[in-house]
Amino acid sequence: MSIKLDSKTPSGPLEEKWSKHKFDMKLVNPANKRKHTLIVVGTGLAGASASATLAELGYKVKTFCIHESPRRAHSIAAQGGINAAKNYQNDGDSVYRLFYDTIKGGDFRAREGNVYRLAEISPNIIDQCVAQGVPFAREYGGALANRSFGGSQVSRTFYARGQTGQQLLIGAYQAMMRQVGLGTVELNYRREMLDLVVVDGQARGIIVRNLATGELESHSADAVILATGGYGNVFYFSTNAKMSNVTASWRAHKQGAAFGNPCFTQIHPTCIPYSGDHQSKLTLMSESLRNDGRCWVPKQKGDKRPPEQIPDEDRDYYLERVYPSFGNLAPRDVSSRQAKYRVDEGRGVGPSGVAVYLDFRDAINRVGKAGIEQRYDNLFDMYAKITGDDPYKVPMRIYPAVHYTMGGLWVDYNLMSTIPGLHVLGEANFSDHGANRLGASALMQGLADGYFVIPYTIGHYLAGTSIPKVDANHDAFKAAKAAAQARIDALFAVKGGKTVDDIHRQLGNIMWEKVGMARNKAGLQTAVGEIQKLREEFWQNVRVSGDANNLNPELEKAGRLADFLELGELMATDALERNESCGGHFREEFQTPDNEAQRDDENYCHVSAWEYTGDSSLKGKKSWQLHKESLTFERIKLATRSYK
Ligand SMILES: Cc1cc2nc3c(=O)[nH]c(=O)nc-3n(C[C@H](O)[C@H](O)[C@H](O)COP(=O)(O)OP(=O)(O)OC[C@H]3O[C@@H](n4cnc5c(N)ncnc54)[C@H](O)[C@@H]3O)c2cc1C
Repeated sequence: MSIKLDSKTPSGPLEEKWSKHKFDMKLVNPANKRKHTLIVVGTGLAGASASATLAELGYKVKTFCIHESPRRAHSIAAQGGINAAKNYQNDGDSVYRLFYDTIKGGDFRAREGNVYRLAEISPNIIDQCVAQGVPFAREYGGALANRSFGGSQVSRTFYARGQTGQQLLIGAYQAMMRQVGLGTVELNYRREMLDLVVVDGQARGIIVRNLATGELESHSADAVILATGGYGNVFYFSTNAKMSNVTASWRAHKQGAAFGNPCFTQIHPTCIPYSGDHQSKLTLMSESLRNDGRCWVPKQKGDKRPPEQIPDEDRDYYLERVYPSFGNLAPRDVSSRQAKYRVDEGRGVGPSGVAVYLDFRDAINRVGKAGIEQRYDNLFDMYAKITGDDPYKVPMRIYPAVHYTMGGLWVDYNLMSTIPGLHVLGEANFSDHGANRLGASALMQGLADGYFVIPYTIGHYLAGTSIPKVDANHDAFKAAKAAAQARIDALFAVKGGKTVDDIHRQLGNIMWEKVGMARNKAGLQTAVGEIQKLREEFWQNVRVSGDANNLNPELEKAGRLADFLELGELMATDALERNESCGGHFREEFQTPDNEAQRDDENYCHVSAWEYTGDSSLKGKKSWQLHKESLTFERIKLATRSYK
């Protein structure tokens, strides 16, 4: 099969595209909605909001949750907030400004039409969540409060202390559970999707493993919606939840879904630094902290004085120095690179020297300890528990870590992948964030997709497509289930000497060193070879203990690592092919004299969508064909990003 990319972006003026499209799209009448079954995989913000809304509309929804409760989805970790162009602060915000900031923040590598729609929908998300009872922070007079996030000069971020994701997820979860109570959502717990079933070119179902009993199950539907999150855990160390993985997207990719911009990874500037191999993940310190915290390192190399003994004249507040207009609110890619430069110059702090300070001294002097507590208490507590330091007294030590993946399955304006019927929402799609996501925009995108986009576009697909009756007894389901079983058997059959975690750490090391914050041609070429070798080693030397008929976390991890070992190769290949720097993709060969990313709009103003053309056997050769969706900018002039 060869893929044809058609973004299906509606024609007409930007401001009217979505309204016009909503009117032009076909509708499914209420009586017919009850006849359609839809599968939703993933119960984070995107999946839970989609399940609730689709069921409310009258569809029969079968939702699959990998956890024992949807409330454990990765979205619960989101700390800082959610953007919306409400302009409550009267500080110059508008739908157009949010659109502009997002396109610019993404370094001009996202679709104008999608991003405008996202900004346009954003105020509705806040109304929806408030109506559900989400306890956003409020001003003294009762109005919803806002704070600032990186890459923007207005305050448009709605928040619930440092637990915004949790509160939003409880809202979406309650809305979904209401439908479970009404019998319109069938919620399947502890199920991991292992394959997508495609019948006559349409996505018609999934194969899942019941993680508690080990049983493989087949589920059929009229369309499948993946909301399975991002793949940052390919790096082993990331801020993602340990259950975040690429398996659902990857298996769909191997069935024909193009993978968009796989190398676009976000490295977040404010995480607790890595401290040793005893760790299994890294912890984010929300970007919201940069509203009040100031980043600095000593001016002198090797200055080992405790931070409180280093006077202001010996401190380099490097973000304020390099980016006087945005200062500590420079976007993530830019701030992360600046932290790396300081460490590379030998001015890093703390025992490892691989950290910078985030200092609240001045903010505490300005608003008092109570003022800071009110904004960030849970984040400060978390930092104190993990590091043993009291951040009210000594500056936090922070360093960039892998946080979010802008890449993901390619989707058109209707959020449909290159497999008809397979729709992809939230972080799992290649998203509206281009080459760099602005803080507080992932929650906005996941909820926009789930509450406000898919409910319209899925109807258009169902009403405009002939969908023959197919059930789980179809041969395609039997074949997919047998393939999933064979894969499990193959993992047990290796009986090698290395643990899954050992090999995953090795992969993470290759990815971080060569496909991480800074990349170059030689390093990426080496990475491709090293990943291929490591994949071979995995299939010869991994040891998966236990058996398949029980709860078996080792087996789960092994299956996910097998996919990461293929994805890693594609990420390096994509990074190698993109001979420019943009957003989080920083190719050392392509930088301006002052070390900023140097784009090549003439040759790379496109989305890279990769089609899998490799061997379908487990250990066979992997290969891909690149397709390009060119990006045209009608409203925003392509310009070099500047936060100075
Ligand atoms: C620490 C942290 C803080 C953040 N803070 C913010 C913030 O303040 N503001 C903001 O906008 N964004 C923030 N983000 C990003 C944001 O939280 C995520 O991008 C967003 O929540 C993703 O939502 P989602 O619904 O797309 O996916 P997820 O919430 O990741 O949900 C996907 C679910 O699918 C499950 N799944 C995966 N594979 C399978 C499979 N094969 N079968 C079944 N289930 C599967 C996953 O385990 C997960 O539970 C933060 C991220 C982190 C890590």
